[in-house]
Amino acid sequence: MEKLKDLLRSNDLKATHQRIAILECIDKFGHINIDAIYDYICEKYPTMSKATVYRNINELLSYDIIEEIKLPHKNKKYEIKKVPHIHLLCKRCSKVEDLFLETKPFFNSITSHTGFKIDHSFIVIDGTCRACQQS
Ligand SMILES: [Zn+2]
Ligand SMILES: [Zn+2]
Repeated sequence: MEKLKDLLRSNDLKATHQRIAILECIDKFGHINIDAIYDYICEKYPTMSKATVYRNINELLSYDIIEEIKLPHKNKKYEIKKVPHIHLLCKRCSKVEDLFLETKPFFNSITSHTGFKIDHSFIVIDGTCRACQQS
């Protein structure tokens, strides 16, 4: 909770209960789509409207506090902004895992092979997670 308040304050945003509730929810689930955020918030704060939730999410996005992750054939999900990482998407249970790997050597080899200058990358690897392989 304090961590989330600090995150807002370090971006000169007031730690309103709406923003805290949204960040808490995203933090809890790791990667979550907007409808699931809304359902979660609704249970805790029945008076918060969908418009308010959406407006706050857009605001947090514009401050780069949260990030949108685009997954193939799926709704967009949101996560709290972290250092760049790779996403592992399970095709069976739709779980998204973060993988923090050093990508610099990989990107350097792309540039040296193609001359392409990389500004930004978004890597999603799909497959079957460990739990689903065992079930
Ligand atoms: Zn799975
Ligand atoms: Zn992630």
